[in-house]
Amino acid sequence: AGDLPTTLGILCQNVGTAEAVHRAAVEGRALTHRYVTVTGDAVADPRVVLAPLGAPFSDLLAAAGGATPGLDRLIMGGPMMGFTVADPAVPVVAATNCILAATTALCPPPQPALPCIRCGACAEACPASLQPQQLYWHARGGEVDTLAALGLGDCIECGACAYVCPSHIPLIQYFRHGKAEMADARQARTIAERARERYEARQARLAREAEERRQRREQKKAQARSGGDARKAAVAAALEKRRRRRGTAESDGDDGDRS
Ligand code: SF4
Ligand code: SF4
Repeated sequence: AGDLPTTLGILCQNVGTAEAVHRAAVEGRALTHRYVTVTGDAVADPRVVLAPLGAPFSDLLAAAGGATPGLDRLIMGGPMMGFTVADPAVPVVAATNCILAATTALCPPPQPALPCIRCGACAEACPASLQPQQLYWHARGGEVDTLAALGLGDCIECGACAYVCPSHIPLIQYFRHGKAEMADARQARTIAERARERYEARQARLAREAEERRQRREQKKAQARSGGDARKAAVAAALEKRRRRRGTAESDGDDGDRS
């Protein structure tokens, strides 16, 4: 928890990504195409196609023999973790690995959610050893700190909990929303922390500048004091010199008179 697989020496890649890495690192080619599985019970000839990024899903369906009349939902991704796509004009992106064309028999419409009966089936199904029923309660309340403490960050959004829930609670939607709120809270904390650091740095700079000004003032005062003393000494020396000269001149005059 809280770590990346690479810190344990593990790198897990799907085949499409591994192939894209090979093309980029070995052949020096950019990622312009993506292998996409087009499958489901509402597609005539399910297959894997090599699709250019940006190609609409409708083109991929056409490449797989077209959709059958019973098509109810288009899902990007698998049946558990995928997203329903509202429009077949949605383009292939780097993360598109599968398009599932499903009838209501394969993917029945979601039933109305009922209250949680605390049966614990979701916790038994969770591969990340989380407590989805508790996460659900705190996600409803928007308690991001509790969600973080309960390990929502470790949820891999596999959908197993929602699949087994007898109350048909759309747990993953709550968990995705909870994760987004956790990310918002993290960002707000980071912004506040940076603002605090900026404030403290400014206060330290102002204090440093004030201290430098004080030291400069002290230096000037000391220079002024030492300059005054030197001037006084110079004046005293000049007076003494003049006094001596006068003394010498007077004694020379006395000697002349006597001679
Ligand atoms: S499986 Fe559904 S009803 Fe049962 S505890 Fe989990 S959330 Fe509640
Ligand atoms: S979606 Fe998350 S909470 Fe639910 S079973 Fe999968 S890992 Fe556990």
